[in-house]
Amino acid sequence: MIPLTKTFMPPKDELMPALEKVLYSGYIAQGEAVDIFENKLALYLGNSNCLTVNSGSSALHIALILAGVKDGDEVITTALTAEPTNTVISQSGAKIVWADIDPKTGNLCPEDVERKITEKTRAIMVVDYAGVPMDIKKFQEIEKKYGIPIIEDGAHAFGASFEDKKIGNHFRYTVFSFQAIKHFTTIDGGVLCLKDDHEFEKAKLIRWFGISKKLTRQENDITVQGYKYHMNNVNATVGLIQLNHIEKVVDRYIKNGRFFDEALKNIPGIELLEYYPNSQPSYWLYTVKVKNKQNFIKTMTDKGIMVSDLHKRNDSHTIFRDSKIQLSKLDEFEREWVHIPCGWWVTDEDREYIVNVIREGW
Ligand SMILES: *Cc1c(COP(=O)(O)O)cnc(C)c1O
Repeated sequence: MIPLTKTFMPPKDELMPALEKVLYSGYIAQGEAVDIFENKLALYLGNSNCLTVNSGSSALHIALILAGVKDGDEVITTALTAEPTNTVISQSGAKIVWADIDPKTGNLCPEDVERKITEKTRAIMVVDYAGVPMDIKKFQEIEKKYGIPIIEDGAHAFGASFEDKKIGNHFRYTVFSFQAIKHFTTIDGGVLCLKDDHEFEKAKLIRWFGISKKLTRQENDITVQGYKYHMNNVNATVGLIQLNHIEKVVDRYIKNGRFFDEALKNIPGIELLEYYPNSQPSYWLYTVKVKNKQNFIKTMTDKGIMVSDLHKRNDSHTIFRDSKIQLSKLDEFEREWVHIPCGWWVTDEDREYIVNVIREGW
């Protein structure tokens, strides 16, 4: 079976000595390895304000806190995403306001987001679904026009870019997840990329109980509510070794994605996504819209290709029942959207095989 997701791990002889060294170093909490990892990650992403944490969800929560989101505020968001995008919003006490998607990409429709803005809107959560960058230009305009911060959930879009700048540089807050099945993994972990230097310092406090690591315990006085969200030296060491391979890994996702962009054109019953101008997706999954979705999934699976819609639209969960509204574009998209494997493990032969099976029909 060609899997839909697969964890990349660096070769044993490279990873294990580094891991062994940190495990028996006598210090595995947040320390030097985290600092070095943060600096190297900052170089890769091109943003010097990179705050590593223990999960993407923690990073999203810190972003919501920095944006000032509190009980009773509204956060506009998408239902087409993995659940953590939205469970963190309910965790913050805010009310979820769904906006509809752009059916050409599956990402939030900027015009519909604008229609949903009220005086209670404190933040807008936008996802680069499946690794396709959202309409960054339009959302930057919205952020500017209304002064409402955008939180970019880039969990699917590590290594993607817009106008030749990596995702992680276009909004006040961008979040990546380093959970097991993402492009880049530290086993578990995440990062919050910030634009503002002062917010970066505040985020460091929130990450670790509100305690400053620059001062002794006696000198510390906690003034902000903090959490236990830091990354430790062990996960950071995995991350450091993973970074040696990231260019190659992401490049393979992109090469496979571009291959499907060409090879799947003009096949009856299948419609490809569009991309916004000047954006380079990193194709965490390759999403297509197909007629007879269930037949498609069955035919592909029977032929050894794992194909799935992977996510459940989030507004159908009971916990979000009170915010449910009509989202007609998402209703249409839901009938047709499905992902095919596109990652680093998909070989030239695999991708030819996938295209041939699709050409045969379902
Ligand atoms: C994986 C994921 C997250 C959460 O990341 P964790 O590291 O698992 O907390 C958030 N948003 C999206 C879209 C994701 O896919």
